[in-house]
Amino acid sequence: MGGGIAGISIAEILSRTSDKVCLLEKEKLLMSKSSSDQHGWFHIGSLYAFMNNEEYLKGLIKNTKDIINYYSEFKKLNMTLNSKGNLEFNTSKDGWFRNSDVDYLIASRNNQDLTSKNFFGRIKNILSWEKKIKKFVSRHNKLRNFDLRKDESHKEISKSNFINYSNKEITKPSYNGVKIDNNEFFSMKGFDKPMRSKTIYSDLYSSFKLNGGTTLLETNYKSVKEKDDYCEILLNDTDTIKTKKIIFANGAGIKDFIKNVTIYESPLMVTYPNILNKNIVKLTPNNDNTINHFMHEHSEGFYSVIGSGLSSKLGDNESKDNVLKIFQNNCKSFFKNLDKVRFKEIYFGKKVEYSAKEQRNYHYKIFDLSKKQFAVLPGKFSMAFSLAVDLYKKLNNSNPPKNIKRDLNLDNKNISNNKHYNLVSKFISTIQT
Ligand SMILES: Cc1cc2nc3c(=O)[nH]c(=O)nc-3n(C[C@H](O)[C@H](O)[C@H](O)COP(=O)(O)OP(=O)(O)OC[C@H]3O[C@@H](n4cnc5c(N)ncnc54)[C@H](O)[C@@H]3O)c2cc1C
Repeated sequence: MGGGIAGISIAEILSRTSDKVCLLEKEKLLMSKSSSDQHGWFHIGSLYAFMNNEEYLKGLIKNTKDIINYYSEFKKLNMTLNSKGNLEFNTSKDGWFRNSDVDYLIASRNNQDLTSKNFFGRIKNILSWEKKIKKFVSRHNKLRNFDLRKDESHKEISKSNFINYSNKEITKPSYNGVKIDNNEFFSMKGFDKPMRSKTIYSDLYSSFKLNGGTTLLETNYKSVKEKDDYCEILLNDTDTIKTKKIIFANGAGIKDFIKNVTIYESPLMVTYPNILNKNIVKLTPNNDNTINHFMHEHSEGFYSVIGSGLSSKLGDNESKDNVLKIFQNNCKSFFKNLDKVRFKEIYFGKKVEYSAKEQRNYHYKIFDLSKKQFAVLPGKFSMAFSLAVDLYKKLNNSNPPKNIKRDLNLDNKNISNNKHYNLVSKFISTIQT
């Protein structure tokens, strides 16, 4: 149930050993909600290396390994391991990832965000920030050289600490197009990449269809009745589907039956043409001041998608207005040419997260509703691969097969583009007419 990235990745992997998988989507097009709204930032480890909680980084590295283990037969997957087991990307015009670096712009000890009312407050801020940053750099150093073929590599990398710290990969920032004081930041390359979300989705969807999967669009379930040996899905007053198992991958709809699910709204700004020639993630101790910039492609040239750490809870309109103001100001004070771009627009997308505590949670989650019904949340578009692999293992008690049917490139007219791409296309078509 649900044709976002969680639904298609699960449907695809289950269809590798069954031709009786059906994907239901209530909209006219697949990938049309959160999976279309998102930034297009493929997380491999970098940002998560910043968090104290080891679980996120472990999860992301395991996800990267799951992609290499179970998706390598997709010709457009351009992420591989070299002979030493280190990650490598091939440049490919239509690969899953755009082989373009993401630079981390990291607050140094002179940064304004570390100031405090008194001297001791400032020292405390500097010490705790440096501890965090050194861990971040150490984890990168380890990921850069670690043999990912080793079973325990995701655990080893997440545990790395100051012993692996070195400033070898750190440079002075030098970017045209952003307003920063170079003495307040240093820069380092990460592993994350801009992703071609629709290419990934289309590959998974083609494989699913070639495996005999069925898709029902504009199909909204009304209710489910669980019987002894099957479930009955009521679609409207007369039509039903009988099924052995149901996976709810219905995004925000999961809130109806799972407690502790929170929906956050986050703003993204789209500019055409691109406002900067780099993918940059600015990290400072003040979450409100973080900003990230990714370049994406259109047939007419590159455009920018800008995000931040800002969000508000769905329904809290006061907080949303405030987030919008801060975000607009941050964009204005960071990018030199914001007033000059021909097109800029901000939209809010919805993120669905599960957390028993008042903390954000970026991990994927599988909920057992009964022996026949399950609900899932991917946490991130990027994390849908491990989610699918784990769900396959759970339902089949075995690893998924690695082979897929090769003749991909089926018609993808039922798949939405990313929202940012659609906005740019609309603008380009207005100026062309
Ligand atoms: C602003 C923003 C930026 C983000 N940036 C990134 C990023 O850069 N990288 C990243 O990895 N992640 C990012 N994310 C997170 C990512 O978008 C989500 O984690 C992911 O797309 C969620 O996928 P999903 O399949 O669970 O949900 P969705 O894509 O929302 O899919 C759920 C589907 O279920 C369907 N549905 C609902 N109810 C029913 C029903 N009753 N019957 C049938 N179908 C139903 C919906 O129509 C929808 O298509 C971002 C999110 C936002 C909001």
